[in-house]
Amino acid sequence: GTKQPTKLNQLTDEYLRLAYQGARAKNPDFRCDLVAEYDERLGSLAVVPQDIGRVLLNLFSNAFYATQQRSEQQETGHDYQPQVRVRTRRGAQTVEIRVWDNGLGIPAGVQEKVFQPFFTTKPPGQGTGLGLSLSYEIITQGHGGTLQVRSEEGHYTEFSLHLPPEPVRP
Ligand code: ADP
Ligand code: MG
Repeated sequence: GTKQPTKLNQLTDEYLRLAYQGARAKNPDFRCDLVAEYDERLGSLAVVPQDIGRVLLNLFSNAFYATQQRSEQQETGHDYQPQVRVRTRRGAQTVEIRVWDNGLGIPAGVQEKVFQPFFTTKPPGQGTGLGLSLSYEIITQGHGGTLQVRSEEGHYTEFSLHLPPEPVRP
């Protein structure tokens, strides 16, 4: 694909909803709070929209999966409300997209492995383990950005995606 001026807030919101629909199609009982905070200063950015779309779809799908897993593991009588949050922000040096979920979390020793090709904790047929390694390549090689993870097992996971601002006037 080629880079073209892309409204990142709009793209992000599209893929958030697409991923949620996908999760609900597989499991109609699944309900998740969606919290989105979009920085209007983001505007348009020169990116490959299909590639950034794949990254977002994977981040959101992973987030919904993690909250679903946690609600399934939750003991009855304990309240748990699945939540996925997304936030965009234009900083001085970067454009940032954060995807946060209150799902299972990732154990400390595992966090470095999630970007490796074929690393997955999903049962066979549910995941290829290629989503994050591909995403990492798209963001770093393809767009000169960074992709980082922070997580606390049993509490939350947050992926932050940073892109160089390169504003493109539509
Ligand atoms: P896949 O989704 O096919 O497993 P990914 O590369 O997208 O492959 O993710 C690799 C692994 O990273 C997942 O199997 C899971 O163990 C972990 N992971 C990714 N995102 C999350 C998340 N939001 N919460 C908990 N674990 C995650
Ligand atoms: Mg995935």
